[in-house]
Amino acid sequence: MAYESDLALRLVPYTAGEQPKDRQFIKLNTNENPYPPSPKVAEAIEGLCDSLRLYPDMEATQLREAIAQVNGVEPEMVFCGNGSDEVLAFAFAAFFAGKRLLTPDVTYSFYPVYANLFGVEHEAVPLKADFTVDVEGMMQGCPMALANPNAPTGIELPQSEIRRMAQHARDNGAVLLVDEAYAAFAQETAVPLLKEFDNVLIVRTFSKSHALAGMRVGYAMGSQRLIDALRRIRDSFNSYPLDRLAQAAATASMLDVDYTAKTVALVVAARDRAFARLQESGIEVLKSATNFLFVKAGEDAAPVQKALREEGILVRHFGSPRLKSWLRVTIGTTEDMEKVTDALIRHIKGE
Ligand code: PMP
Repeated sequence: MAYESDLALRLVPYTAGEQPKDRQFIKLNTNENPYPPSPKVAEAIEGLCDSLRLYPDMEATQLREAIAQVNGVEPEMVFCGNGSDEVLAFAFAAFFAGKRLLTPDVTYSFYPVYANLFGVEHEAVPLKADFTVDVEGMMQGCPMALANPNAPTGIELPQSEIRRMAQHARDNGAVLLVDEAYAAFAQETAVPLLKEFDNVLIVRTFSKSHALAGMRVGYAMGSQRLIDALRRIRDSFNSYPLDRLAQAAATASMLDVDYTAKTVALVVAARDRAFARLQESGIEVLKSATNFLFVKAGEDAAPVQKALREEGILVRHFGSPRLKSWLRVTIGTTEDMEKVTDALIRHIKGE
């Protein structure tokens, strides 16, 4: 007999990117925003200290209203959690536990971990040779989950393709989960589909476009039926996943639409400039609809990652056979991206 449960012994946890403590890096390894959150956030959390003796609003009413208003949905169609990781975990428990689930093979690597945790029979459908999602291959009469735009490729699937998957899932009585962590940097979103499909769950985060990774706030949008199921899972786990500071900060940030648009535009411009410069230098890089670029850096990209680290630049490398030639480079400030692009060209081209 072991102290640990079989579950604890069998889990293979997710590995997050490095969070250095001892040295200043240009930190481009975990897709954080290089700009600070909206100045309205500081105003919103100032003076809340005394109220911390009371539990927070478990339904995050103000935040849900703000999210609903900005996205053009009803507050009853919104669910908030402690980072989108938690919302995703609840969704796996609510819609996929005990079922067969299809995801692309290259996607957010937390999905197989949740599948394992919640007893989901997970099947990974290989991306096509051009790194796009194999939509036909995904449609096998089961629930489906994918990140759109995808990570770490950065490629966006058009809304028409998401619609096809939603239809197929509904015909088979299944949920389609669309993780839109990076949608603010993309062309399209699946939100308009929510009017038509009661089986589509969209998951979003404040960690990227809203520069609040340190606050841990994520949300889901979907039909009341799906939101009710998420609530049942939450209330079987932790009634108060979002504290008072997080709710106030995220509400202020969501409502400051102009600030978000401005900082997202800066990131998108820096991304497109870095993309163009890398391509002009003959480096293979995927067209990105996110706040990162997926860049080919030799047969094995590990030495380039190491060389960049020695220069004070952190980027992410995934060791799996399909991805080992590539680096995922988060988009930093306009200024930093010039330096980082120079360094990438120098190390990849060996110049
Ligand atoms: N989904 C995707 C596709 C991501 O890349 C991330 C960031 N690691 C998340 C969800 C989780 O974001 P958070 O928990 O910070 O909201």
